[in-house]
Amino acid sequence: MKSISILGSTGSIGCNALKTVAHLKDFRVVALAAGKNVEKLAEQIAEFQPELVACESEECAEELLRKISDSKFQIPKILVGEEGLIAVATHEKAETVVSATVGAVGFVPTLRALESGKRVALANKETLVMAGELMTKAARDNNAEILPVDSEHNALHQCLRGESIKEVKRLILTASGGPFRTKSKEEIENATVAEALNHPNWKMGDKITIDSATLMNKGLEVIEAHWLFGFNADEISVIVHPQSVVHSMIEMVDGSVIAQLGVTDMKHAIQYALTYPTRQTGCLEPLDFRKFSTLTFEEPDLEKFPCLALAYKALKTGGTMPAVLNAANEIAVQAFLDGKIRLSDIPRIIESVMNEHESESASSLEAILESDGWARTKANEFLTETASGAGL
Ligand code: MG
Repeated sequence: MKSISILGSTGSIGCNALKTVAHLKDFRVVALAAGKNVEKLAEQIAEFQPELVACESEECAEELLRKISDSKFQIPKILVGEEGLIAVATHEKAETVVSATVGAVGFVPTLRALESGKRVALANKETLVMAGELMTKAARDNNAEILPVDSEHNALHQCLRGESIKEVKRLILTASGGPFRTKSKEEIENATVAEALNHPNWKMGDKITIDSATLMNKGLEVIEAHWLFGFNADEISVIVHPQSVVHSMIEMVDGSVIAQLGVTDMKHAIQYALTYPTRQTGCLEPLDFRKFSTLTFEEPDLEKFPCLALAYKALKTGGTMPAVLNAANEIAVQAFLDGKIRLSDIPRIIESVMNEHESESASSLEAILESDGWARTKANEFLTETASGAGL
């Protein structure tokens, strides 16, 4: 029996991880951390009976306790805030930690999990974008491992198995292109929140769905691939593949291309990350090739989707620039979801923040948190100007 804990258990990846665990049978859940969704957390506690749970605040903890206090099972220990997230991430019984919180909140807890020598099944790509150097060093120093849950990186991990890195010429990340792939610049400029949240292939949380609409998601994934697999910016390509059947590919020095294909359901990648290096019978329908008469590939349009170019720029600049890109993006995406700015303001705000940042070494936690905080403040300043119509 293997023990796991989950950061972000009530989100899209967290729920799929629990479904995967229920299917796998020889896994048990020892700790769960969620945000405000106490209702769902209470259901998860009843089904999986973890020893420890964490939620966002004291109020959430009180509400949670009310919901589960007269249950027949053992009431788990309940902690709150970052202390709770870290306790779940470092639970002594957990061998694997699924890191699936949204955005920067998962950063320190995920780092602590790696420092404790855990396997981290990583869905939270922001963590690697902000602090790839620190995260990968913590993994190396503590004999921990990072197994990517992001479908593209999970695919690359599968393609790279048994290959010699020096024989791999480049990584090719596929991108669905999002809901605005065929739309004009003007249509993107005036897109509504509902249109941006309408992803053609994948059902995901709000933040990542907006990132997919701007192609920032793919930009963050380029940076993530750099840290996971050690390839430089010019050795990582992005190709738009609207059907999302090919999850990613590697090109070898002899020109041969190895691809991983599958259905668009995150449970596959989660299961791979949990059971690696073995494989177990899956819980999904197999890929039905008869449903795909064509698979198409096209170049991403960097003019229509400047976020992708900004991410490449941040990776090439290095140091704290990716953390700044990530923080500014989080602020801008939330402002778009709140109806304060237009979709096309997102790259404008990020670029303005990046232009004012002088990148420095990102090898300490302090430097990263300071850049993250600085970028959020700056992004909020530009946001106020943008929302008031002053423009950038
Ligand atoms: Mg992905």
